[in-house]
Amino acid sequence: MIYDLAVVGGGPAGMMAAGRAGERGARVILLEKNDSLGIKLLLSGGGRCNFTNLTADDKGAMAVYGRNHKFLFSAFHRFGVKSVLRFFADLGVTTEAGDKGRVFPKSGRAEDIRQALLKYLEKYKVEIRHGAAVSGLVARENAIRGARLRGGGEILSKNFVIATGGRSYPSTGSTGDAYGWLASLGHTVNTPRPALTPVVVKEKIVKKLEGLSLKDAGLNVLAGKKIVARCRGDMVFTSDGLSGPAVIDLSGRIGSLLSAGALKLEIDLFPDSEKSELDKKIRQDFHESNNKQLKNYLVRLTSPRLAPVILEISGLNGARAVSDIKKEERVRLTGALKGFILEVKGLKGFDRAMITAGGVATFEVDPKTMRSRFYPNLFFAGEALDLDGPSGGYNLQICWSTGYTAGDSVSF
Ligand SMILES: Cc1cc2nc3c(=O)[nH]c(=O)nc-3n(C[C@H](O)[C@H](O)[C@H](O)COP(=O)(O)OP(=O)(O)OC[C@H]3O[C@@H](n4cnc5c(N)ncnc54)[C@H](O)[C@@H]3O)c2cc1C
Repeated sequence: MIYDLAVVGGGPAGMMAAGRAGERGARVILLEKNDSLGIKLLLSGGGRCNFTNLTADDKGAMAVYGRNHKFLFSAFHRFGVKSVLRFFADLGVTTEAGDKGRVFPKSGRAEDIRQALLKYLEKYKVEIRHGAAVSGLVARENAIRGARLRGGGEILSKNFVIATGGRSYPSTGSTGDAYGWLASLGHTVNTPRPALTPVVVKEKIVKKLEGLSLKDAGLNVLAGKKIVARCRGDMVFTSDGLSGPAVIDLSGRIGSLLSAGALKLEIDLFPDSEKSELDKKIRQDFHESNNKQLKNYLVRLTSPRLAPVILEISGLNGARAVSDIKKEERVRLTGALKGFILEVKGLKGFDRAMITAGGVATFEVDPKTMRSRFYPNLFFAGEALDLDGPSGGYNLQICWSTGYTAGDSVSF
């Protein structure tokens, strides 16, 4: 049996490519080494799947995709955000846009996005082969003839789409398998690097705050006393550091700054107030409730979990009455609230990175079709390519657009 198209990798990019080619009438097989499709998709957006962003294909805003953003113009034009919204609506998914243009299924369930894609594959009779780990491609006369299966056997097809993802969260199946085969076929694979990762800090105190979210906090990155990067947004303490959208989006910058020297993070719990304003407010509050214990006051000002940690880092005894607190002690307290300092130890690796930066060099791929410039029947889609964006639905939009373009471009 010779298929019209064999898609390697059943993540969002591979499912989209396979479905679109099937919709065009191609005989398609989708090869996935796991026992189910879209395992990483189910983890996305904390299980809610932030599947696109309303601004993702906005030409003025596409610089968020970094140095290779122009590569995406054509695919985003062919199948951009509006097309993605219509696509999922047609498959019965009701969606809603949240903060900063992020779009989710209204149910808050990533499973609905996966089910919609499975319905799409079924409708267009895509053959799905689970447990099919591809171990290499067979090339002859400048064309790909087959995909070798681990454990024996070969899938023959007129066209191939490589949608094997990157190397991050390897437990989901994305283990970077294709990089080696593609390099041996002559493609350049830019060094894969973990990106959008949590930050690890030296202080053990964060363990006490594990799981605590901070809404719209400020974060300064310090090299010595100088602020070298900053951001503002939601973050969460982990067992050994910080994560959450604001931290994750800053992680790339932290990674490159770290190579030049030690860094500290300064969390500002009250980014809307100057230090002097916060001090004035605290002074007034102390004045109005002078018998109150400091720890109870801090619980109200921050949160029950944060209050004891703030006391610890400012070296104050929470059992004291607020009327007892001296000016110098109050200044220390304000300092801790506006500048909770943590020393960066490093970044989490591939096991916890949301995406992989690097991958198949885009200059060796035709952006209009996702076709290899070396092999006319070889195509790419999704994170296997050297493309990445910030958190917020931008990375899945890459998968939908490049997957659709590849499936739309195969000749059969
Ligand atoms: C925790 C987490 C949360 C995320 N949240 C979001 C979010 O909210 N919004 C967003 O836009 N992005 C998010 N992302 C990123 C997004 O999930 C990825 O960019 C996306 O899944 C990449 O899709 P893909 O199809 O290219 O690859 P993958 O999803 O990695 O799929 C690749 C597939 O190929 C299969 N495969 C690999 N090698 C072989 C082989 N040799 N043979 C057969 N099959 C193979 C794998 O098993 C896997 O199923 C998140 C990522 C993580 C880890």
